[in-house]
Amino acid sequence: MERLSIGIQKSGRLSEKSLDLLKESGISLANGNRKLLSSSQNFPLDAVFLRDDDIPQYVFDGVTDAGIVGENVIREKSHELEVIEKLGFARCRMSIAIPKGVDYNGVVTLDGKKIATSYPNILGSFLAENHIDAEIHVISGSVEIAPGIGLADAIFDIVSTGSTLVSNGLKEVEVVLKSEAVLVARPNLDPVKREILDKLLFRIRAVRKSRDNKYILLNAPNDRLDEIINVIPGMKSPTIMPLAEEGWSSVHSVLNENEFWEIIDRLRDLGAQGILVIPIEKMIT
Ligand code: ATP
Ligand code: ZN
Repeated sequence: MERLSIGIQKSGRLSEKSLDLLKESGISLANGNRKLLSSSQNFPLDAVFLRDDDIPQYVFDGVTDAGIVGENVIREKSHELEVIEKLGFARCRMSIAIPKGVDYNGVVTLDGKKIATSYPNILGSFLAENHIDAEIHVISGSVEIAPGIGLADAIFDIVSTGSTLVSNGLKEVEVVLKSEAVLVARPNLDPVKREILDKLLFRIRAVRKSRDNKYILLNAPNDRLDEIINVIPGMKSPTIMPLAEEGWSSVHSVLNENEFWEIIDRLRDLGAQGILVIPIEKMIT
């Protein structure tokens, strides 16, 4: 039986969420990430635990068939990999920052400057696209201290909240790239592996969709039923059942997390009562 191998970060910001996603997709892995390789007993998948920076190369070389890694790493390594799906976690941006006392008048400000980064390829492309001639100084780790110790005039690095920049006296001046974890695969997978990948993707989508949605139950007075139904979008349309109490109905539907509170407020204004909101475990549409 053929199996699909997938590179997962061994330990770091991507590890736990990657494993959670597989677990919620019904794929159990023995021993977590303690070993180099863990084979699932209930799905034809082998997880290979690697440093995130190595994942693009391994997938490209066919050492693993697929991988879960940050888009920023894929872009930096610039291999021809197929991005199968964005996964919605490990979100960050990659930005240029300069000391907060220095004026910034657009990218031209960077001309002739020295910029420290661990991502020379992404930065190099950005500078070339903008016709900026700057010196790229490659350092690994603690890029944000470079301007303070006189190593560089600016930095290009990962930002998530910006607090690291602020505490190093820097200000963010250009967002170059937005990134999140993605599922990547080698192009030209053989058909059997492709089929396993498609199955995995189907499950991942069902899990992600369920995370974004809630099941809602409420009691509605019949004379406001039409208005209440109008407020709830539902997967197709809400389910409506009469309550034992005359003049009332029970309404069941699915709500998106993002519009959730606003809809609840409108439902209460329309006289809905006994509103129950329940997490959805899997959602297949
Ligand atoms: P490894 O030991 O596997 O090389 P690492 O130190 O390179 O680990 P992490 O810090 O675990 O990597 O980050 C992994 C990925 O998480 C990054 O490449 C990026 O896509 C994403 N990420 C999200 N937010 C942040 C952040 N605030 N700092 C760093 N990475 C972040
Ligand atoms: Zn890394």
